[in-house]
Amino acid sequence: MKSIATIYIDGQFVTPHGREPLVLLDPATERETTTVILADAVDAQRAIAAAKAAYPAVSRTTRERRMAWLQRLHDAAAAAERDLVDVIVAEYGGTMAMATGTARRAAASFGIARRLLAEYPFEREVGGARVTMVPHGVVGMITPWNASIGFIASKLAMAIAAGSTSVIKPSELSAAQTELITRVMHGAGLPPGLFNIVTGRGDVVGAEITRHPDIAKISFTGSTAVGKAIARGAVDTMKRVTLELGGKSPTVLLDDADFAKAMPLAAQAAVMNSGQACIAGSRLLVPRHRVGEAHELAVRAFRDLVVGPTRDPRVNVGPMVTRTQYERVQAYIRKGIEEGATLLTGGPGRPDGLERGYFVRPTVFGDVRNDMTIAREEIFGPVLSIIPYRDDDDAIGIANDTPYGLHAYVFGADLARANRVAAEIQAGRVFVNGLYDAPEAPFGGFKQSGLGREFGVFGLDTYLEPKAIMGHD
Ligand code: NAP
Repeated sequence: MKSIATIYIDGQFVTPHGREPLVLLDPATERETTTVILADAVDAQRAIAAAKAAYPAVSRTTRERRMAWLQRLHDAAAAAERDLVDVIVAEYGGTMAMATGTARRAAASFGIARRLLAEYPFEREVGGARVTMVPHGVVGMITPWNASIGFIASKLAMAIAAGSTSVIKPSELSAAQTELITRVMHGAGLPPGLFNIVTGRGDVVGAEITRHPDIAKISFTGSTAVGKAIARGAVDTMKRVTLELGGKSPTVLLDDADFAKAMPLAAQAAVMNSGQACIAGSRLLVPRHRVGEAHELAVRAFRDLVVGPTRDPRVNVGPMVTRTQYERVQAYIRKGIEEGATLLTGGPGRPDGLERGYFVRPTVFGDVRNDMTIAREEIFGPVLSIIPYRDDDDAIGIANDTPYGLHAYVFGADLARANRVAAEIQAGRVFVNGLYDAPEAPFGGFKQSGLGREFGVFGLDTYLEPKAIMGHD
């Protein structure tokens, strides 16, 4: 069994002070694959000290030099694409499509940040003041297991563009991805201390980053519950906080939509990353008079899904990441049945022929009311709830009747009408008539889906702070 301890401090892989081992299983086979030696709070403190020591020089480094660093990171990550895809597929059972997208986006993040940095107005005259956009200092980054290297790269790219140094705490469930991306980034030969990586538990390393006075900003991606704990922990030292949290995103089929065209996309939105995606379109809102057609098409789309180990590129639903997550999804499926939703396809248990591994049956519920648990809580699995609505206003009301507001999807023939509905939905992003890759559009949530935005120029803004100097000529 492989052993990993990714503690990267001041440009070097170091032996962790922490000693706790964590055994990871392959979610497709339930076999033990890796022992991760977890970092502890002392390791976190060392990483923070290294980032703090590197900050003065990094923050004064020229724009051109930082652009060169980002270019090197881009080239190194792009060259490692195949290895990154392999490790994502093997580690958590990401599909080939998801793994490829994640690896490409990781490399692209550095390229995008480089371009934004070339154009960014760090100084401007506003209201009689010379306003300079200054970096925060040391940024703490806490990332989830899903699309892990994508989040590490997109956050780090912006911090480097801004002129900050970083301490990154990835999820220990993505230890193998983290190990590889760290080696790849190490190979880019950047200044020691610019980025530091500490793989350990959230309530140990993550909590240390949250409370430490030398961390000036936290960029967190993960669940709403942990996001709230981080916001509370960060307030004492008034850290700047960006939170990218959970979702319960609606897909609205308007009554003039071509359901046959829309449904495969709606299904894809529901099961992206095997349903384990913050932006999964897990609630499907359909006009009452077209419910029968919607049920039939949704069932067909879900029965066409190929579930299994994800080395096979035809597979579009892989395993749940852990046994705990598998059991959580099973419990939600049972809850949907108990609460009176109509089970249209799927249901509790494993798919036929998959006796091992954390595979669940892609499940569609009909006749779901928006107050049922399966419509309110983030399931993080391939489970779709179909909710009937009366008219556009009712659809908007149901779409917005959720504590979340991360994403939404709207399909309709009349584009002006679809855009009107999109404008009324409280979500950070709304996709109309398609699924889009938009790595520079602002990404983030309304309501309890988060705070602040990442990606593109709006993302870069959140890594900088305006400082006004008056009294010059
Ligand atoms: P999670 O349990 O919230 O964990 C996210 C990260 O926070 C992990 O590194 C975790 O470490 C750490 N953490 C846990 N407790 C902490 C604490 N007390 N203080 C500081 N850090 C702590 O989320 P997850 O299960 O990995 O990911 C799934 C969730 O992330 C879903 O809710 C999903 O919607 C959300 N997500 C949101 C976005 C977005 O962009 N909006 C993107 C992807 C995922 P451990 O691994 O040790 O627990």
